[in-house]
Amino acid sequence: STSLSALPENGEREVETTLRPRKLAEFVGQARVREQLELVLQSAKRRGVPPDHVLLSGPPGLGKTSLSMIIASELDSAIRITSGPALERAGDLAAMLSNLVEGDVLFIDEIHRIARPAEEMLYLAMEDFRVDVVVGKGPGATSIPLEIAPFTLVGATTRSGALTGPLRDRFGFTGHMEFYEPVELEQVLRRSAVILGVSLEADGAEEIAGRSRGTPRIANRLLRRVRDYAEVRADGRVTRETARAALEVYDVDEWGLDRLDRAVLSALVRSFGGGPVGVSTLAVAVGEESSTVEEVCEPYLVRIGMLARTPRGRVATPAAWQHLGLPPPKGGTP
Ligand code: ADP
Repeated sequence: STSLSALPENGEREVETTLRPRKLAEFVGQARVREQLELVLQSAKRRGVPPDHVLLSGPPGLGKTSLSMIIASELDSAIRITSGPALERAGDLAAMLSNLVEGDVLFIDEIHRIARPAEEMLYLAMEDFRVDVVVGKGPGATSIPLEIAPFTLVGATTRSGALTGPLRDRFGFTGHMEFYEPVELEQVLRRSAVILGVSLEADGAEEIAGRSRGTPRIANRLLRRVRDYAEVRADGRVTRETARAALEVYDVDEWGLDRLDRAVLSALVRSFGGGPVGVSTLAVAVGEESSTVEEVCEPYLVRIGMLARTPRGRVATPAAWQHLGLPPPKGGTP
């Protein structure tokens, strides 16, 4: 597929592993989160205890998984990786927790999608390093408290607002990941080009960075697609010219908007007169899940000022009308 969404594509995990930064110093951008995290980690190291539990929140592809691995590596700890949807039964989580070694990092991706019984088990584990294992069934069931090794939970979420209060309260630190600036994405691209052996010119990097939706995952993906084009249709060098020609083939516009972004804007403007319209209605109109529209697509459209979230629903800004080549309605959007 040539889907350019910020979510990982099939088969992309392997190349992502190759391109993943390993140390905090290699991790580009997110200066704020990095500084905050550095303090949390260093202070814990000095005190000789596992750091407080960390929540990383932000849109997909901004480096939450990478950062969690870096946290483990900076602590010289092992990392165990799972995800909210994988923890359907509390027993699955109990098994993971009881296998932890002191100081381990437990990474739970999409933690807002964890099932209720597992979430409740997590409260006690996070707070007291304990799980209650239920033995037997019915009225004869007893619960046996089991100690687990002190560990650090790193949770990642694209929707921190969907976390329950009790879960959110148990994290000592929340890092809010921001979209990357184009110059930061150029840095990501230069590093990836070296690893992949791509000859990337400065103007080529600039062109790709500007169309990457502020997202390293997308920057790396576009780099690979532009490389393909440069190798097949040109002399292999990634220049501004080859980047432009290649991204035209892949349907990435000058704002970096992909097909879903444009479908959302187009539906909003053409079918709903610019809004306001509810996100679920909008999602049905573009044939996507509401959560995808809300967590993958909208944050960037909001960030570049094409879409506004209002209490009455989503509204297209004049910039969105302009982007679609249409005159904004007189008197502004409702
Ligand atoms: P998330 O977990 O937020 O979806 P990932 O950590 O999986 O994002 O990042 C996706 C890819 O983007 C990684 O494989 C990595 O190559 C790249 N990446 C993300 N953040 C950075 C960064 N700050 N510096 C360099 N590369 C990054």
